[in-house]
Amino acid sequence: MAQHDEVDTSAEHRTTTIEQGRFCMARCICGWRGPARRARSLARADAEGHGQGG
Ligand SMILES: [Zn+2]
Repeated sequence: MAQHDEVDTSAEHRTTTIEQGRFCMARCICGWRGPARRARSLARADAEGHGQGG
């Protein structure tokens, strides 16, 4: 059984929204960042979509 180290894909995605000027964007501890949105609700939607989908 050959094994090699892999990134733990079960790592948790913790998203938050940050404000940047007039815009809001989603951000995750994994390094992912969503697009700048004009509404925080949209940024949150991006964050939720990221945390759920692969
Ligand atoms: Zn993530």
